[in-house]
Amino acid sequence: MEKLLSVEAAKKIILEKAKIKEGSLFPLHQSHGRILSQDIYAEINLPSFDNSSMDGFAVIAKDVMKASHQDPVELEIIEDIAAGSDPKLKVYSGQASRIMTGAPMPFGSNAVVPVEFTNFSDRYAQQALPKTILVNKTIKPGDYIRPQGQDIQIGEKLFSKSHKLRAQDLGVLAAQGIDKVPTIQQPLVALLSSGDELIQPGEVLHPGKIYDSNSITIKTLIESFGAKVVDLGVAKDNYLDIKEKFQKITDLKFDLIVSTAGVSVGVYDYIRDVILEDGSLNFWRVNIRPGKPLTFGEYKSVPYFGLPGNPVSAFVSALIFIKPYINQLLGLSEEIILNSAILKEDLESDGRESYLRAKIDHQEGTYFAKLASHQGSGNIFSLVYANALLIIPAGVKSVPKGKPVKFFWI
Ligand code: AMP
Ligand code: MG
Repeated sequence: MEKLLSVEAAKKIILEKAKIKEGSLFPLHQSHGRILSQDIYAEINLPSFDNSSMDGFAVIAKDVMKASHQDPVELEIIEDIAAGSDPKLKVYSGQASRIMTGAPMPFGSNAVVPVEFTNFSDRYAQQALPKTILVNKTIKPGDYIRPQGQDIQIGEKLFSKSHKLRAQDLGVLAAQGIDKVPTIQQPLVALLSSGDELIQPGEVLHPGKIYDSNSITIKTLIESFGAKVVDLGVAKDNYLDIKEKFQKITDLKFDLIVSTAGVSVGVYDYIRDVILEDGSLNFWRVNIRPGKPLTFGEYKSVPYFGLPGNPVSAFVSALIFIKPYINQLLGLSEEIILNSAILKEDLESDGRESYLRAKIDHQEGTYFAKLASHQGSGNIFSLVYANALLIIPAGVKSVPKGKPVKFFWI
């Protein structure tokens, strides 16, 4: 029997071809999910000025030290400070300025008395400024003030290189006034499906045809790894159509070409011939289940993955091989996080390194694994039922119920 390349050896060959992409400045609003190419430091303090955290009155705390309902303290109102305005008048003893949430504290004041602690508690738009107010509760210096730099201090490290930007991260960058973000260029992937049997969702299903599910699944999956995918459509199972589709690929600067199907040993599988005319192949089989007919090589110097056509095989191979490849282009070392679960049933394998679909649940802190009923590599719905893949090492042909197995979430 032919000795198949191990999953580990295949990954090694693949990762040798993966060169980290350069960083460039990208608009903030396009940066969601992108990877920082540099550390980012604060350019301004946040808040950048002392401001009020309540609607109320900016006062000198000492003035209202003894204020109570029985014995309120009267203060003269000298100014009205709205959010976005710049206070003009200094507050002296016996005085206060009306202030809104987020508005800058006026000179001289050192605390805010919320409107709730005064006789001026009605609030409505266009409300006239009172001449005086009565403060009926005491406060301490600093109360209801958000001091400059409370959240972020200028020069502070905000993010490390290789951080993946999430919604809240974009918010911090925006709050810093940063509109261009240094991120790693997104890898660009060309995706091609193949097969005479394929029609697109929405078309009429004729005998012998099937709907193309790989294109959308693999595109979405690779995009979730952080790459941009250009879908080149479906090639027919003939040499000329495949050749024509591949020639188009070199018009753009792709980091990777991915095809699905047409790379096994079927008599209509021409992809390999087309690759070999303008490139090379490193391997075309791996000791993995599902997904043995995995092809890797180069077409016109662009790395090439030929994923198997069966939907589950294509999905699993993309997770196991394309994800680490894209990660490396993005400068990420993120490895799959493995957990351990107890098998709820006996399990058979064929000795290849196997990634079996399973449903994991947990009882009292322990994970338990139940296999998806049919492990056929064409059964895409099993990937919806399953929430994890169990990893059965190469050489293992059975694992009894009750034994622990490694798994990762999908
Ligand atoms: P192949 O690798 O071309 O022999 O295809 C293996 C199996 O995967 C066949 O049953 C194909 O019909 C199926 N297949 C290939 N491409 C797709 C696709 N894009 N969507 C769904 N099934 C596919
Ligand atoms: Mg085919």
